[in-house]
Amino acid sequence: MDAFRLDGRTALVTGANRGLGRAFAAALAEAGADVVLVGRDPERNREAADEIAAATGRRTTPVAGDVTDAPDVRRIVDEAAAAHGRLDVLVNNAGICYHRPALEVPDDEFLDVFDVNVTGLWRMSRAVAPYLIEAGGGAIVNVGSISAMIVNRPQWQPAYNASKAAVHQLTRSLAAEWAPHGIRVNAIAPGYVKTEMAPVDEPRFRDRWILDAPMQRYATPEEIAPSVVYLASDAASFTTGAVLVTDGGYTLF
Ligand code: NDP
Repeated sequence: MDAFRLDGRTALVTGANRGLGRAFAAALAEAGADVVLVGRDPERNREAADEIAAATGRRTTPVAGDVTDAPDVRRIVDEAAAAHGRLDVLVNNAGICYHRPALEVPDDEFLDVFDVNVTGLWRMSRAVAPYLIEAGGGAIVNVGSISAMIVNRPQWQPAYNASKAAVHQLTRSLAAEWAPHGIRVNAIAPGYVKTEMAPVDEPRFRDRWILDAPMQRYATPEEIAPSVVYLASDAASFTTGAVLVTDGGYTLF
């Protein structure tokens, strides 16, 4: 199992103060990594970082910042690298979603979604890549979605779906381009997971979100996290440009 260990490595996780990102940060720390937790809310970042450090004994650093702000992205990454001396893993997890029919989506909202989900991921990846190269190689794990592959029902979320398709294809593009630098770039595509973003318990979503899926349930963030550890670790040393679907079979139908 040594190939799954991340001892001596530093991972930076965006959107790490709650939901999936927090579970990813905790799992990476459990696997031995020191972790930098990024999000806009400093208090929530601090609380998550303290809890993970107490539970795992790993070093955690909260860094408050906004992935949609170009100078902020450079500051976040430089601060993280200065605090830990190296960066080995980047998990691009920060994301937002709005439910609204296409004809009612204001331009600003469409652009906001792309700003966080795609441009934020792009900027973070380019800011972190030089540090990965300096460390002799590294791994980027992007958080895509089944929404890149299917159109969710009953709610409409056109910007989100398109943004996640962009995440999957950007994953492949960067994987091809950065393989010579020893950087692997992969994505996960989760199905419905219980977080603040996804109101999986609301009865109006039950038929389509839950009963339509072969496993007929949603996931917890902790069930998705081991896939991120796998892709971040040497266990996935020959895997790049892949999209690992973790959806309880949702996309089979
Ligand atoms: P949450 O809304 O629970 O958490 C989102 C996280 O992103 C928060 O930590 C938030 O922190 C951070 N964030 C949002 N905007 C920014 C920003 N501009 N800069 C920095 N951080 C930001 O979402 P989930 O945990 O559900 O989702 C995490 C990822 O997983 C997203 O990419 C989402 O698309 C994806 N996903 C989720 C699924 C689900 O069913 N939940 C299914 C498939 C994919 P703060 O507000 O402090 O900035």
